[in-house]
Amino acid sequence: MTDQPSTKDIRVATLVDPRGMKKVSLADWSTRGDKIFENKKDAKASLDADAQAINTLQDALFASKVGSLLIVLQGIDTSGKDGVTKEAFHYTSPLGVLVHAFGKPTEEELAHDYLWRLHKVTPRKGYITVFNRSQYEDVLVVKLRKLAPAEAVEQRYEQINQFEKTLVENGTRVLKLMLHISKDEQGERLRERLEVPEKRWKFNPGDIEDRKLWDDYQAAYETVLQRCSTPWAPWHVVPADSRSRRDAIAARLIRAELEAMKPEYPDPGYRLDQYEID
Ligand code: AMP
Ligand code: MG
Repeated sequence: MTDQPSTKDIRVATLVDPRGMKKVSLADWSTRGDKIFENKKDAKASLDADAQAINTLQDALFASKVGSLLIVLQGIDTSGKDGVTKEAFHYTSPLGVLVHAFGKPTEEELAHDYLWRLHKVTPRKGYITVFNRSQYEDVLVVKLRKLAPAEAVEQRYEQINQFEKTLVENGTRVLKLMLHISKDEQGERLRERLEVPEKRWKFNPGDIEDRKLWDDYQAAYETVLQRCSTPWAPWHVVPADSRSRRDAIAARLIRAELEAMKPEYPDPGYRLDQYEID
């Protein structure tokens, strides 16, 4: 086994500078992750240890109610938003973890401001919530498909930053992961979806339409990373061409976020000698 990367190594390798000093160019970010985990065996071992730690930490978070954690997963079709959720919480009880996937807004959702459907389901104290797609769709697909006026989209970056700031200042940590895959890898995965009977249900002709806008999506993501990586809710770019490396990197970042909350079991509020069970 080679040297395992430390949490700091992983944070440094994935963090988008929250001061927005440098222009973000996704072409400069590896989609492979082999500089972080040299081999897949190491990544799998790391993921297993972190997924177990996440289970323990979630239990303590639930008991302590010190705060809550919102995990925002974004990435183009097939980048692995479902896979990360499944693997990072492999050992965790579903009791304290909620997952919300955001698709096309309903009529009721469209009748409200775009943040309404998100704010309604942010985690309460003690809980972890995963957003599979999120408020960022409102500056990605909405921008590219022109589903809202350009001026309205332009205002949203700052609105999203303020929304996340409100959450953070009120006890919710916000971890944002952009799953970064290459166009070739997406091509492979879409082909697989068509070929493997158990995966066909995941295929959506719209995925091919979105793939035609590949460069536009990359540019729209770059704008998101540039304008919405803030000191209170920075973005991480997770290399996602290799499933095992992707899951290991994401799990480590989730674990670190939970550790930073320092969840501790509360004092039970009674003396142990007070009760006797016959
Ligand atoms: P999936 O995640 O593959 O189930 O697909 C969900 C679809 O809903 C994707 O094509 C998203 O782009 C789309 N979607 C998510 N949020 C919005 C939104 N706010 N407006 C329009 N489409 C959206
Ligand atoms: Mg899809």
